[in-house]
Amino acid sequence: MKAAVLHGPRELRVEERPRPAPGKGEVLLRVGATGVCGSDLHVVNGVSPEPMAPNPVLGHETMGTVVAVGEGVQAFQPGQRVGVEPLIGCGQCDFCRSGNYHLCTRLELIGMERLGGFAEYLVAPQDKVFTLPDSVSDEAAAILDCVAVAVHVLNRAPLELGDTVVVLGGGTIGLIIAQLAKARGAARVVVTDLSERRLALAREVGADEAVNAGSQPFEELKARLGGRVDVVIEAVGGKAPTINQALQLVRPRGTIVFMGIFIEPVPVDLWQALRYEVTIRAAWSYAYHDMKREFATALELAAGGQLKLDPLVTHRFTLDRVAEAFAQAGRASEAVKVVVRP
Ligand SMILES: [Zn+2]
Ligand SMILES: [Zn+2]
Repeated sequence: MKAAVLHGPRELRVEERPRPAPGKGEVLLRVGATGVCGSDLHVVNGVSPEPMAPNPVLGHETMGTVVAVGEGVQAFQPGQRVGVEPLIGCGQCDFCRSGNYHLCTRLELIGMERLGGFAEYLVAPQDKVFTLPDSVSDEAAAILDCVAVAVHVLNRAPLELGDTVVVLGGGTIGLIIAQLAKARGAARVVVTDLSERRLALAREVGADEAVNAGSQPFEELKARLGGRVDVVIEAVGGKAPTINQALQLVRPRGTIVFMGIFIEPVPVDLWQALRYEVTIRAAWSYAYHDMKREFATALELAAGGQLKLDPLVTHRFTLDRVAEAFAQAGRASEAVKVVVRP
């Protein structure tokens, strides 16, 4: 099969690789669509804070069609369209056993430690594979991982009816968070970004306001929101000054949830947090919320039609052009979600 193998920073090559075979309890998929994640960009650019597997085949936002099943798999048959939850804990530690496998110190990712979706085929354990209804398109299914991250963010945010929410960052996850915040009963959802294309999309998917954080002075935004922001979601990361912006915007005793991946330590004005008793919470990946998997919740939201996911996919490439896909995803002013269709 063809697979995009990462040999070093910015050295992504499409090569022939042996097609994987499904082991006991595993499902073999022909990959249909795989999203380029911001974290994939960090890995390819050599700036990811996470440890990197040797020569990985990336692609954790992925879906496909079952072509074969391993021993003991009864719930799936060839021909079924399925989504893939890429997070695989060790299954043995207290975090895994308590349904918090995203916190497992031996967490593996389909698309890092295991072969991912920038390839023609992949294998996944059967309990990480979800049957897709016809109402979820291939491209929407590829970004279910982003929806699940957004679901986890909302589960970590103490959002009340009538709240004002600011989402810093109008990438794929930020735009899903904005939609979920409205669905949860926020009265006012404001999205900030530097890209006019993303801001237009924010309005299209239901944000009440979309603010260009580059062209509008921050002080103006702060004055307009008047210290009444109940929850700020940080969805940028990188090297951005967004945590301190969040501290400027949030009301006393408000909450900041951050999920952007910071690629270097950023200074945080903890005096501001102390003076106004602000809660700062991290939201990392997803797992279970109460008795239910957040990926299953994401799939139900997508299937139920409450979420606008298809408009978030702005660019499509074949596997041969995966390097172009990454270049396009890096141009954040133009792209939201870039998808590779092997
Ligand atoms: Zn991702
Ligand atoms: Zn574990």
